[in-house]
Amino acid sequence: MPGKPENTASPNERKLNFWERIYLPEVLKGLGYSMGKFLKEPFVTMQYPEEPWYPPDVYRGRPVLVEEDGKPRCVSCNLCARACPPMAISMKSHDIGGPKEREPEWFEINMLRCIYCGFCEEVCPEEAIVMSKEFDMTFQDRDEAIFGMDRLLMPKERLKDRLDWLATERNRQYGKEVDFRRDNNRHSLRERPFLRHLAEEHAEEA
Ligand code: SF4
Ligand code: SF4
Repeated sequence: MPGKPENTASPNERKLNFWERIYLPEVLKGLGYSMGKFLKEPFVTMQYPEEPWYPPDVYRGRPVLVEEDGKPRCVSCNLCARACPPMAISMKSHDIGGPKEREPEWFEINMLRCIYCGFCEEVCPEEAIVMSKEFDMTFQDRDEAIFGMDRLLMPKERLKDRLDWLATERNRQYGKEVDFRRDNNRHSLRERPFLRHLAEEHAEEA
């Protein structure tokens, strides 16, 4: 439709000055910055794989299931599968009784679909699925890229860095705006001592 173009500037948009509008000085500024970095840190190229790389705690590698006391923390609530944008997660629950009620009978992540977004980790109420530091995976065929519980479960001790990072960096706004009490925010089985007590009793009876 003729008339007003669709891509109009918003009223809050910053006004560019003359030199910014002709772009060239900005391009030269960018090149100058890159060159400065290049001369200052000329040997930053890592000789991977001969030289191993240890990602920082914030890094999102392949998702894994947290194993605690030899069992998955997962309560098979299916939230991660619902949140996963490429639908990489599938699972089947089974009833185990006790306060935990359910565990996955099988749990699979298709690593060819996974986009390492971390949504599964974000929605999990149990911190049962977290992003590990593993990034170098290879597959010979498509079936090999479907990881079952045997390859997904990882002891929580090996995930300590990420779990500690989540404890301090996730929801950092908590307690800043309102008078936050951690006691009021216990939604996880692991954080409810009385339920843990029931779970232990149930395990003894079984
Ligand atoms: S990291 Fe993202 S894409 Fe991968 S399994 Fe989790 S939610 Fe799905
Ligand atoms: S969101 Fe967490 S507890 Fe729920 S099914 Fe996924 S991994 Fe298990």
